Amino acid sequence: MLVQELIARKRDGAELASEDLREFLAEYGSGEVPDYQMSAFLMAVLLNGMSTAELRALTRSIIDSGRRLDFRSDGGPPAVDKHSTGGVGDKVSLILAPLLAEYGLRVPMMSGRGLGHTGGTVDKLESIPGFRTDLDLEEFHAVLADVGCAMIRQTPAIAPLDGRLYALRDVTATVPSIPLISASIISKKVAEGIEALVLDVKYGSGAFMRDRDRAVLLAETLVGLAESEGVRATALLTAMEQPLGQTVGNALEVREALECLRGKGPADLREVTLALAVESVNATATGAAPGDVRSEFEAMLDDGRALDRFARLVERQGGDPVVTVRTDLLPEAPFRVTWESPADGFVTRADAYEIGVACVELGAGRRKIEDEVDPAVGVELFARRGALVRSGQPVAEIHARSADAAETMIQRLRGAFEFGESPPEDPPLVWRRVPQG
Ligand code: URA
Repeated sequence: MLVQELIARKRDGAELASEDLREFLAEYGSGEVPDYQMSAFLMAVLLNGMSTAELRALTRSIIDSGRRLDFRSDGGPPAVDKHSTGGVGDKVSLILAPLLAEYGLRVPMMSGRGLGHTGGTVDKLESIPGFRTDLDLEEFHAVLADVGCAMIRQTPAIAPLDGRLYALRDVTATVPSIPLISASIISKKVAEGIEALVLDVKYGSGAFMRDRDRAVLLAETLVGLAESEGVRATALLTAMEQPLGQTVGNALEVREALECLRGKGPADLREVTLALAVESVNATATGAAPGDVRSEFEAMLDDGRALDRFARLVERQGGDPVVTVRTDLLPEAPFRVTWESPADGFVTRADAYEIGVACVELGAGRRKIEDEVDPAVGVELFARRGALVRSGQPVAEIHARSADAAETMIQRLRGAFEFGESPPEDPPLVWRRVPQG
């Protein structure tokens, strides 16, 4: 079929045959189909969606564009990974990976960089002096065998077609499509060769899917697609109305993750991490072990075992493990400025999206793909939604490169926070599971 004919069929709402779609994607991969035709196709998908068969064909084409690892048939412990659809202040992976490894699972984790207003695990890990996320696959396997978890950035060896499609989607306004997001995420996870996947699908202002119903649809699509590729999957829908935890910014978030690994840290961060840890165990074929899995995980945080495991991971990936006890060795910003509450009242809004965008402006994220992130900058929040504050009470501390940057951040925080006479209704932190039950 002519490429323009295939695009026209998709534009007009017809269902494409899997073989035609796969041929078209293979030709794009080999350079025969130009970006402008792929862009038109992606927009047609964004507008008209995809059938289940089309979605599976797209996913399979992305998987087949690169190598496929196999942690399922080597006789080792069950291999599990977690994927979050992206949030602000979401440092869960840094805690979850060593926790699951300590439990006895294998965690071959490939993560992303910050995207838009959301942070990325790779940027956070790279704020640890010396930490390498660019391990080759041989090194990745070796760290995993030694430590039980390994955390690296996306390698071009795995699902390279996704990298090209994603770059095109980013500049053609075709990112927020449930089938395109699902194929992108699940193809990479299937190619990792894991047995089970746990998904943290965010909803609320700081999430890519703000609306709860769209978030449920995304979760269902992701779970269904992973299962159709033979990967056991469950999703939790978790709130992203305000940042997770108290910090946003790479080194600040590592510091907070270390607090949580020490059995302390903010309650919401600990709760989401524990819920995902329990789901990860349930998602493996062996399922929940007898006894209370959650209290086992709690004990691993409280008695320092998960922290020791993280220190081993840091050391094995080239970082200085001393940072796990001496967090003052992490990068620190030269300017720290406190923002105080302008009024008495309850915090009724601490908008995750606005705070995320403000932190990107401050240098914690990227405006353009080639930008460097500043690992030291960010914000610490002292008051969360529902907190009662007095006028003049510190609400946030800004960690900035310059006094001007801190001042701009304060202006932005003024727009992100609201104060009122009564506390707001909070959306449930862990709202529901997909599949339900
Ligand atoms: N994360 C991904 O890996 N892909 C998407 O399309 C969106 C978020």
